[in-house]
Amino acid sequence: MSDRAVQENLMEDGKNKTKLFCERCSSIVLLPEKAVYSEIEFFLPHMKKKTDGTSETGETLKKYWKVNDMFEFENVGFTNTVETIKYLICADCEIGPIGWHDVNDKKAFYVALERVKHSE
Ligand SMILES: [Zn+2]
Repeated sequence: MSDRAVQENLMEDGKNKTKLFCERCSSIVLLPEKAVYSEIEFFLPHMKKKTDGTSETGETLKKYWKVNDMFEFENVGFTNTVETIKYLICADCEIGPIGWHDVNDKKAFYVALERVKHSE
């Protein structure tokens, strides 16, 4: 996804314009305007069911929706903490990680744009 596509299609005042859904089961993750677009490089393991966060392989992603409060989510699950990181997974089908959270920063939950569906 290009930066321009992100800006034109997904954002309104820097916030998510559409709902965010799980790519696999279409469970709703987040409602519109609950997150702020944020660029930060973070290595996420490849997606799989019931991830334990210890996968050796993955990719560094840079585009995230940043959510300040975990209660803003409609549905989200967490993996066990690995060092200081908890991975976000779908609460329904448990595929993940769709994002990450550092337990040292209580006000930052990151959802990777490339790991969720954007739709009205
Ligand atoms: Zn799901």
